[in-house]
Amino acid sequence: METTPQIKKAIFLLWILLVPAGLWFTYKITPPHHPGSWTALSGFLLLTLVVAAMPIVIDKMFIFLIQWVALATFLQFGLFVEIIFAQAAVIVLLLRSKVFGKDQLFRYPLNLYMIFIVSFLSGVVYYALGGDVMPKLAGNPDAVWLVVLYAFMIYALNQVIVSMHLHFIYKEPFLGKDLFVETIATIITFPIGIVLYILYREVGIIALLLVGGPFISVSVFFNLYYSSQKVNEYLQKAAEIGHKMAAHLNVDDVINLFIQKLSETFPVDYAYILEVSEDQLKLIRRMEMGKALSNDMRLLRKNEGVSGLAWTNCKPYLFSKRKEWHQYTNGYIPEDAESILSMPIERSNNLIGVLVLASKEKHAYEKYQLMILEILCSYFAVAMENAKHYEQTKIQSERCSLTKLYNYRHFESLLTKEFELLMRFERSQLSLIILDIDHFKAVNDTYGHQSGNEILYELAGRIKQLVGDRGTVARYGGEEFVILLPDSAKENAYEIAEQIRQTIDKWPFTLHQSLDHTQQQVNITVSIGVATAPENAEDALALVRHADRALYVGAKRAGRNRVAEYSSC
Ligand code: GH3
Ligand code: MG
Ligand code: MG
Repeated sequence: METTPQIKKAIFLLWILLVPAGLWFTYKITPPHHPGSWTALSGFLLLTLVVAAMPIVIDKMFIFLIQWVALATFLQFGLFVEIIFAQAAVIVLLLRSKVFGKDQLFRYPLNLYMIFIVSFLSGVVYYALGGDVMPKLAGNPDAVWLVVLYAFMIYALNQVIVSMHLHFIYKEPFLGKDLFVETIATIITFPIGIVLYILYREVGIIALLLVGGPFISVSVFFNLYYSSQKVNEYLQKAAEIGHKMAAHLNVDDVINLFIQKLSETFPVDYAYILEVSEDQLKLIRRMEMGKALSNDMRLLRKNEGVSGLAWTNCKPYLFSKRKEWHQYTNGYIPEDAESILSMPIERSNNLIGVLVLASKEKHAYEKYQLMILEILCSYFAVAMENAKHYEQTKIQSERCSLTKLYNYRHFESLLTKEFELLMRFERSQLSLIILDIDHFKAVNDTYGHQSGNEILYELAGRIKQLVGDRGTVARYGGEEFVILLPDSAKENAYEIAEQIRQTIDKWPFTLHQSLDHTQQQVNITVSIGVATAPENAEDALALVRHADRALYVGAKRAGRNRVAEYSSC
């Protein structure tokens, strides 16, 4: 639920009406009789602010353990001072939680007056039950119980008031994301507050160091330990993603997996992968709000957009809010993006592309994530190179380099597969067309081998276009082509063959590279043989043999430029 402007206004008003009046009232009922020296007050305030500024951070959840300092302050200086310090602490907490946005400003009065109510009610009840400022705890179990009761009230009121507000005003958690964890941690640290109070009364201001020092150190160590754990986890995840990408041999699969894993690992609303193509950056994948969109975007030049920036300077860029990168943009990033990571993708010291991630949140990315992303990008670069290499080798191994049609090797394995399907009755029939150019040797002799090649290339294109997705065209050898037509009856195959024959017969071929360097028109004809399984053949080899026989006996011998089917010879 969005908090409406009316509710925000009401919150500001509540704070202005409630907190100063409450403070005045508190001053009246429990004036700070024994404030101690200004040094002591400043010492406690300093400890309050330092502890508030050093939350324990787990998974972007800030756990603020401030209640124990507040308890010692309350016992030593009374409610008035405690309220003021608590207000100061909340401001530090909110600044630390990075509550900066204009539309988030209302969270300051909201939290300030919530903490005020908690402090005020607990304090008033404590005094009403006979509690004192600077109570004597030694040998006075009643006073100790009262302090415990006060601590419990702080805890309970915090729970009730915060959850009430969460329910009615703002569907987001209070300061941290997990109130439960925060509350447990607060209860555990309460006794430290009593220790601080007692020690302060015994040894004076040095108590702040004796108790505050170890506490702050533990917080710092915990955060360091946790963040190194976190980095380790990320590294492990990165290695796993690297392995997974390496297992994919298809360029598209590698890109899809990379984008998917990035969105699982980082906060990503927008993701773009750009490839260096000559002197420009070409978009090869674009994902916005979880949806893959068309890559049909203009090319980017050096220095253009945040990607161009990473490319030109060959280093990663991290922006935490819009203001920082707005001057650079001319690229694709939508207006509502805030945080951006722009990372060059390198392979063997060559920049091959740029990855850009963006989030609508401010401060969405942290510095250590840059390092993880850098590792992921290098895995990505290797996986892309492998996949491209594999795809290229595959094309080379199964296609003819002149006509780009499938070669004999691929045709053979396709034929075997199709025949297996036929044997399992998953195909009703299988037709094969074999085509041979008539008197091609003469064409070569007249116009040259280069021109012969031109004809082969154009002929391949024409046949492919005529066959479409009805079958697979392959170059069988020399100037012979085959067409495999699954689920095609002989009459149908014959029709296609006849169509091909007529088209070639009718439309002359244009030569650009003939021996005398002039453009020439050449008419050629083809002879074609057709056979169909299971009607004409019981195995793959027989099907080829019979189509071939139809070609040579039925078409060539009968005068060329004709189609013959096996049964007719
Ligand atoms: P026909 O089939 O009508 O009996 O006569 P033909 O002249 O086509 O005879 P044949 O099939 O025996 O000869 C095939 C010729 O095709 C031989 C060779 O010069 C030519 N040829 C084979 N492969 C290529 C190629 O890749 N490029 C070029 N330019 N010519 C090729
Ligand atoms: Mg031949
Ligand atoms: Mg021939």
